[in-house]
Amino acid sequence: MNDPAARIPLTGGRIELHTHLEGSITPARLIALGDRHGRPDLPAACLDPSGQAFPFDGFHGFLELYKRVTSVMRTPRDFHELALDLAAQLHADDVFYAEVSVSYGVLLKRGLDPGPVQAALSEAADEALETHGVTMRWLPDAVRQFGLDAAWRAWECAERAGRAQGVVGFGLGGDEVTGPAATFAPLFGAVRAAGLGVSIHAGEVTAMGEAARDSIRQAVDDCGAVRLGHGLAAAGDPSLLSELAARGVFVELCPRSNVATGALPTLASHPLRAFLDAGVPCCLNTDDRTLFGLDLRGEYAAARAVLNLSPAEESRMRQAAVAAAFDAVPRAGGGGSAGPG
Ligand SMILES: [Zn+2]
Repeated sequence: MNDPAARIPLTGGRIELHTHLEGSITPARLIALGDRHGRPDLPAACLDPSGQAFPFDGFHGFLELYKRVTSVMRTPRDFHELALDLAAQLHADDVFYAEVSVSYGVLLKRGLDPGPVQAALSEAADEALETHGVTMRWLPDAVRQFGLDAAWRAWECAERAGRAQGVVGFGLGGDEVTGPAATFAPLFGAVRAAGLGVSIHAGEVTAMGEAARDSIRQAVDDCGAVRLGHGLAAAGDPSLLSELAARGVFVELCPRSNVATGALPTLASHPLRAFLDAGVPCCLNTDDRTLFGLDLRGEYAAARAVLNLSPAEESRMRQAAVAAAFDAVPRAGGGGSAGPG
């Protein structure tokens, strides 16, 4: 990471730092897993009548959908298949390096052992590189509202898997109101001591007002986050933006996800320009690809069309994303057949 310029891809290809494995399940895979685990009724409850999309209403509706679809993700084989499906999506989307979040917090809550799951993901990553030229790295995360003890159990599993199984960082997601980041400060001290990256979802719910900005400060000051998921709330506070820029805290923006969940009313209201103008390093991401029906190509196209993202800014984003990655980013297509699409 000392010389990001040396690793900047020469041609084409995108990098994604914020995408959730569970949010990339395809309708076909949901149907297959529903059949495998004796829940053929599940797809009907989650898919639209065409069987192609996941409709939901607002943030609460999204959480319900998320709970349902993850209920049929049970065995290491299931996760292996999900990872290969995501690799195919990344390849089709011209993404050659992705850091993929996996909710160990949810796995443990459901009584599943993240150990064999991570082994299956690691194997799938090897296949993805071989087949698609896509490098996948893993960001296990804990869930705020499940509490500190549960988060420690998730982290212990992540630490055991380590970089040998492609785990490059550890994250925190969930309800910012009931699970303030400062509670998890000792845990993230351990993550940093183990040499892994810290990326925390914070400042996603702007309706929290000043509490959302405080949530960002806790993530950065108390937990040592060098990357923030969303970080939207910072946009309303020029001094916080300057501080993030000065400290080089990277923000993983997911504009169309914010519209999908209702965090923002329209794409035009996304504060991308505030981050760019303040010099905060950032890039665009899908967050939950299939659940929201998003791809990264479309994310950048929409930002160009609606938020006036310039080619030079897009290029700076790519450079910043390479520097912010928790592992060395190979040159585009270096591992296989990926390239400009
Ligand atoms: Zn996310």
